[in-house]
Amino acid sequence: MTTEKGTISINTENIFPIIKKFLYSDHEIFLRELVSNAVDATQKLQKLSSIGQFDGELGELKVKVSFDKDAKTITISDNGIGMTAEEVKKYINQIAFSGAKEFVEKYQQESDKGNIIGQFGLGFYSAFMVAKEVEIITRSFQAGAPQADVPAVRWFSDGSTEFEISAAERAERGTDVILHIAEDSEEFLDEYRLEQILTKYGKFLPTPIEFRDKVINNPNPVWVKPPSELKDEDYLAFYKELYPYSEDPLFWIHLNVDYPFNLTGVLYFPKVKQDFQLNREKIQLYSKQVFITDDVKDIVPEFLQLLHGVIDSPDIPLNVSRSYLQADGNVKRINTYITKKVGEKLADLFRDDRKAFEEKWASIGLFVKYGVISDDKFFERAKEFILFRNTTDEHFTIDEYKTKLEANQTDKDGNAIALYTNDINKEDAYIEGAVKRGYDVLVFDDVLDAHFINALEMKVEKLKFKRVDSEALDKLIDKGLKTETVLSEDEKKKVEETFKEFIGNNIVQIEALPVDDLPVSIVQTEFMRRYTDMSKINGQGGMLGAMPVMYNLVVNGNHPLIQKIAREGNENGVAKQLVDLALLSQGMLSGKDLTRFIYTSVEKLS
Ligand code: ADP
Repeated sequence: MTTEKGTISINTENIFPIIKKFLYSDHEIFLRELVSNAVDATQKLQKLSSIGQFDGELGELKVKVSFDKDAKTITISDNGIGMTAEEVKKYINQIAFSGAKEFVEKYQQESDKGNIIGQFGLGFYSAFMVAKEVEIITRSFQAGAPQADVPAVRWFSDGSTEFEISAAERAERGTDVILHIAEDSEEFLDEYRLEQILTKYGKFLPTPIEFRDKVINNPNPVWVKPPSELKDEDYLAFYKELYPYSEDPLFWIHLNVDYPFNLTGVLYFPKVKQDFQLNREKIQLYSKQVFITDDVKDIVPEFLQLLHGVIDSPDIPLNVSRSYLQADGNVKRINTYITKKVGEKLADLFRDDRKAFEEKWASIGLFVKYGVISDDKFFERAKEFILFRNTTDEHFTIDEYKTKLEANQTDKDGNAIALYTNDINKEDAYIEGAVKRGYDVLVFDDVLDAHFINALEMKVEKLKFKRVDSEALDKLIDKGLKTETVLSEDEKKKVEETFKEFIGNNIVQIEALPVDDLPVSIVQTEFMRRYTDMSKINGQGGMLGAMPVMYNLVVNGNHPLIQKIAREGNENGVAKQLVDLALLSQGMLSGKDLTRFIYTSVEKLS
């Protein structure tokens, strides 16, 4: 073969400077691209062999990456199908080049250039991000022909649009891509750097990748195997492979669809920590076992980004901008599919082993609550297995709980009133009061609960939630009954005036409560408190953050001490001390007020 020179046809201005300059932040991608090509070449040969179109010796198919610091080269070798001279012209000069050209054209149109960088697989020509010259030495497998009769080919380009093709020496079928590394990219001539890039992108490539005589990948990760062949140990071992330092997950879902889109993967439910933001960015996205990203924001529904694991789909467009991705039909369908699978899995677990489900509810609940808050459709799936836990650790579904409330906790308008506490220790006095009245109290102490309760009230008819300290105990379930205190109108007035003096703009509320209830307590209306709680979660200090906490001072008109105050006012500081005690029990007494309270109490004892 005589040496042949040619020019790659081009109608954009020179593309190489653009490739080089604008992919700057993601130069390491060149290795992903070239190694993927090499893997493809071996997989293609395997395929041909399996359908009987290649009857030669397959040998041990593999890809080898090596580097030579002195010669300043990085070489990616494979023993795959290789290329003939004609194929080099077609695939490298035309097809690969048009891919690169397309990138540059897209790049020039795209206003937000950051969008495509790192998402666009440039293919073969990404080699020029790091190399000043690129050489290919390749020899085709050529069906039927004895190897010796198939000439090896060398392709060479120095990064201009000119190339050279000539005969070459190569004994075996396959391809070497030799990169002559440019001066500004010599950082890649480094063992650790190369190994790190190879592991990042190639950890689960389907052909063994050898680097420094060591295979760096697991070519058969669990997600590519049929679920029927896998045991729990296999899933757990794979989890450890992905996250070596994590606790075992609670359970997992093996995803497997090929129509109308292609998706495989394994999603794990981790034990969720309360600071669940830390659990994010653990799902890895692959395309045919090539790592793409661990930023799956637009591909996986937000509430499921707390899951861990891998999803693999060649149908997710990787080379487009964010906004386009969100509108993409496949991405939407994948979203819906994953949500549906997760819903089904949870429903199965609930039905198969309710006890185990209840035990894991603390972790599962976070996903479910997050899902209910952020996705209307998810509630429809979840409503049968959403659980409420009460202060005695019993669990109820929504329907079970509504039935439980029917007899004693229905208000005059027919609403079932679920009482809850955020903090069983802090609200103990109120819980005790509620329980004394035969009420059940639920525990809602997750970060998401304020939002969750709101969402539930919107979705479940005739169910309302009230925190135990949001009303005078007898008014928590408003049955429309009126009871009168033993106080006369004048006495009431006196009591109100006495207490008003100590509580600023807050409200005195005289109630007819049992004699053995506390004389004075503090309540904060459900509406006000929930509003403050939610703005805290949303991080809006804003208007409400700056506002003092408003409360009602509930005075038990039937209590002997109150009757005393009705006669004597704040004689001996009794009224003041009762207010302080109520504030203290709500953690609302602090600073100078608290110090003064302690001194006064001590004085009274002496
Ligand atoms: P893509 O891989 O997306 O098709 P590339 O620019 O990476 O685009 O490569 C273009 C073509 O060159 C490939 O489709 C393949 O036919 C050929 N090719 C590249 N690398 C190799 C290789 N190592 N062995 C055989 N053929 C290759």
